This record gives sequence, structure tokens and C-alpha cells, in this order.
Amino acid sequence: MVDDERLWIVRDPRFREHAPWAGHPERPERLLAAERALDGIDPSRLAELPARLALDEEILRVHTPDHLDTLRRIEGLRAQLDPDTYASERSSEVARLAAGSLVDLAKRVARGEARRGFALLRPPGHHAEAARAMGFCLLNQIAIAARALRADLGIERIAILDWDVHHGNGTQHSFERERDVLFLSLHQFPFYPGTGRLSECGEGEGRGATVNLPMPSGCGDAEYESVIEAVAIPVLAEFRPEILLVSAGFDAHERDPLAGMGVTSAGFGRIAARVREVANALCGGRLVLALEGGYDLEALGESIRAVVEALCAPARTLIPPPSSTRVVGALVQRFREAHSTHWTSLR
Ligand SMILES: [Zn+2]
Repeated sequence: MVDDERLWIVRDPRFREHAPWAGHPERPERLLAAERALDGIDPSRLAELPARLALDEEILRVHTPDHLDTLRRIEGLRAQLDPDTYASERSSEVARLAAGSLVDLAKRVARGEARRGFALLRPPGHHAEAARAMGFCLLNQIAIAARALRADLGIERIAILDWDVHHGNGTQHSFERERDVLFLSLHQFPFYPGTGRLSECGEGEGRGATVNLPMPSGCGDAEYESVIEAVAIPVLAEFRPEILLVSAGFDAHERDPLAGMGVTSAGFGRIAARVREVANALCGGRLVLALEGGYDLEALGESIRAVVEALCAPARTLIPPPSSTRVVGALVQRFREAHSTHWTSLR
């Protein structure tokens, strides 16, 4: 395992070439906010990995040939792929670049050549289904990366934690029949895209390896941190992943215009610090975050800054988890009971 605690970043100006032709919350300026968030971070604590295009073979492990053909057909064009999802002239290439970059970052971390990484990419990916773009997402980057780890490196046990405020339907559907890829999602519910009920816990062999934590609107730091501490972490510990991937959206922020949650920028920082400790304890620190949503530019920048600081700080200065000043008993209890069928650590 590598000794250095540097945070590996993927960023590339080409990620801003996926651009709406009319007002849209998923816009290139989001990554300018991310860039500003990195300013002022001690550069010796960061390392950078160049972006690269995903291969057809990598994409086809998750998506159908028809979907890949659609993305090829719209190259150089503007297209509306679903009511929420645009593609501009360069979008197919940008999505391919996002997917390939995340594959490389995840592999580098999985091989122990880097401790942890954060891919600051667009478009987001977790709503993209095998056969179609959806919810601002063209390709499901995190699913493509997880498949690459399994196919190319023989990594067997992968956990995907999705803290974007929306349920990651595409990621869930990619792995819900498999027992060795754990999908764990905290999301506002009921809310877009409508999936992610407590009762959706995987299919067939994969029963139990989908863990949905649907949160009522209005949840903030106390609820998120309690649910992560008392539900997500025991499940992760019992699952024992070899690597932890995170769909890191920041639209559960209290100032996000699309959703109704109340997480603060500092709260995201504490969550990231805790997730880093969990990865250290469970999987040699192997942790990879991929940017998903987050639509208030200032809140997004602040949150990314807090997360980057938490992930690249020397271990001894990590922000400690807060003492549970507010017990969020009922929500935690409900989740623990619902998932205890499959997870003895929750009984
Ligand atoms: Zn989202």
C-alpha cells in the first residue's frame, strides 16, 4: 500500500464542453466552482491523473450496444435524450472521457498506486440506465468503473456508496442481481427518480446487496451522519469490500435548488472524513469518489472544498466525527429493522 496520503484528482477542461443551449442546472460552471474549491489546497497534497476516453468494451459491460450507437449518432449534434437530459455537440465524447477517467482512477487506487481519489467530472452518471440516458446522465461512470475493476483486475467485492440526494437507479439496476457489488444509497424519498424504496433490496442472488436508505425531505447533517454511522457503516463492515466507490453528489446541500435536504458544507466534510476512516479500516484506504449532482454553485464549491480537505489532510488532523448530540432514533431504527433480514450487524 502506498504511504502517501495525497488525494488523486481527475479534472479536465473538456468536461466543460458538455453544455446546455438554454438554462439548465447541470452546467459547465459547476466545474469552475470545483476548480475554485481546489485553489488554496496545498498542491503537495494533491496529485493529478490525466483524463482518457472509455473504450467501447468498457462501456458495453454496463450499457447496451443500442445505447452506445445512440451516443455515436448524436456526436456533433444537439439532442434532447429525455425530458431532463440534453446532449450538446461534444457530449458523447465528454461522457466517454468521464467514464474512462474514472476507470483509470479506480484502477490506480485498486492496484495500490494511489491511496484515494476524487474525479471531478461531468456529466453525472448514476441515473444512466443500461439502455438509455436519464436524469442529466449519459453513461453510468461508477458502474463502468466497478465493472472494470472486476473484469480487468479481478477485484471481487466492491461497495458503492451513493450520497447524491437522488436515488442512483442506474447503478442499482446494474448490480441488483449480484451479491458481490454492494449498492448503498442515501436519498430523498419520495423524490426523483421514484425508485429506491426501502423494500428494494436486490434480486435473486443479489438480495441484500442493495441497501436503500430513503430519507424524508428536511434531513440534515444529524440525520445523514447518524444513518451513515448506525446503518451504512455496519453494513459496509459486514460486507468487507476490497474498495469503496462513492457517487458523491452535493445536491443534499441545504442551499441546493433542486432538492429539499439540509446538509451543510461542513457536514459533507465530516461525512467524507468518516468515510475515509471507514475505508482505512476496511479496505486499506482504497476510496474513490466521483462527482454526481450539486446545483448551487457556491454550495457545491464549498462542499467540494470541505471534502477535498477531509480527504487530503494528514491523518492526525482529521476532523473527528461529531458526538451524537441529536439522536435520530426513529429513522435509524426503521432502517436497521428493514435491512436486518440480510445484515446480522443491524440486529
Ligand atoms: Zn442528484
